[in-house]
Amino acid sequence: MKNKKELISVIISCFNEEESLPYFYEEINKVAKDMNDFNFEFLFINDGSKDKTLEVLKKYAKKDKRVRYISFSRNFGKEAAMYAGLENSLGDYVTLMDADLQDPPSLLPEMFKTLEKGDYDCVGTRRVTRSGEPPIRSFFARMFYKIINKMSKVEMVDGARDYRLMTRQMVDAIVSLDEYNRYSKGLFSFVGFKTKWLEYENIERVAGETKWSFWKLFKYAIEGIVAFTTAPLIISAILGLLFCLVSFILVIIIIAKTLIFGDPVSGWPSLACLITFIGGTELLSLGIIGMYLSKTYLEVKKRPIYIVKETEKDLEK
Ligand code: UDP
Ligand code: MG
Repeated sequence: MKNKKELISVIISCFNEEESLPYFYEEINKVAKDMNDFNFEFLFINDGSKDKTLEVLKKYAKKDKRVRYISFSRNFGKEAAMYAGLENSLGDYVTLMDADLQDPPSLLPEMFKTLEKGDYDCVGTRRVTRSGEPPIRSFFARMFYKIINKMSKVEMVDGARDYRLMTRQMVDAIVSLDEYNRYSKGLFSFVGFKTKWLEYENIERVAGETKWSFWKLFKYAIEGIVAFTTAPLIISAILGLLFCLVSFILVIIIIAKTLIFGDPVSGWPSLACLITFIGGTELLSLGIIGMYLSKTYLEVKKRPIYIVKETEKDLEK
């Protein structure tokens, strides 16, 4: 028997979650009661919410000393919120959750049992269904995973959630990756360690609305591709090479045709098509290079990933 209780940090990123928080708080309290062999800290990250999320968190922090919160100066995005949580967590084990109960806290005891045996460093969760999601969104999500897994050496698991329980060692490894353009699904894979996947059916959020528009998800997907593979650069280089070859063959054909048939002026429509086609691929390649360059630009600036406005420590003042 260990004589000191181990600490589990629960990190919850919240952006306009005043409606979900009461349900979440009740649920996580139940789980903490069941797992009374452990101490808990609930570290809420208020990601620049415009509703009363911060007030709710303050209320909890005043009456419950397990509750900590970090409130950002503006909305920095879920990736920044997760990083802030991991960086500031104190636990021997750390778990990341959404505030909307789509990541059921009730899975925690089962997840912990797997870690406790010592064979794994991380227990992740993945949805096996995408029920309740617009079909077009599911289609693009599936396509994205197929493409990125072909292009990148780091494995991205389809349906994997950010909900996971990790050992301190793995958390420290992730915190040491302090890049600005964060794509956590890739980072979790990149640091290695052994992950066991728990599967569950998709659950719809308990209250409030999803914060991810289709456009936001699309940009996030591009972020993932640019962050974890340089394959698009190679593809554009190969395209360039291919067109050089095609143009070389065309030149030879045209010269031969002119010499044999003496027909130098016809064929301008095909020329117009070729010019627009090649112009298009040129712009595409330029765009691909630009994407990598812009990410590099943002990275070199070394701006902080998040800025804190207040935490639970300010309550004591
Ligand atoms: N979230 C955040 N910052 C953002 C967007 C979302 O902290 O800019 C949080 C949000 O409060 C929730 C979690 O990330 O706890 C997942 O968001 P959501 O439920 O909207 O995404 P979905 O489950 O629909 O993918
Ligand atoms: Mg959700």
